[in-house]
Amino acid sequence: MKSCCLFCSIIGDNKIQKVYEDDTNVIIKDIRPAADLHFLVLPRRHIRDITTVDDAKILDSLLLTARAYLPNFDIMEDKNVGFHQPPFNSQHHLHMHIVAGRMNGRENRRILNPGWADINKA
Ligand SMILES: [Zn+2]
Ligand SMILES: [Zn+2]
Repeated sequence: MKSCCLFCSIIGDNKIQKVYEDDTNVIIKDIRPAADLHFLVLPRRHIRDITTVDDAKILDSLLLTARAYLPNFDIMEDKNVGFHQPPFNSQHHLHMHIVAGRMNGRENRRILNPGWADINKA
């Protein structure tokens, strides 16, 4: 827990509703959704970003959590799953974005988010 981290405070705030949470990971809705469906999957532990992940199991665990606990994850249309790569992070707490459905007026999020690391084909 890092006291100045927005995501750590969201994770620790019982009054904020989560889509899913367990001892390891938390799923929340993005507060500024880029599309009809926009979720963030975060490790409870404060990890700064994708470059400071010390164990690939952490990334597997985020994906498995999304797969297991997001309704319809496997059949979401035009789903994009990915991480920001520094320096394009909006928040410095590792989070996996899941974006699906109709975009909110943004034609190509990859152009808008040049730091996007796409793991769709993983
Ligand atoms: Zn944090
Ligand atoms: Zn982000």
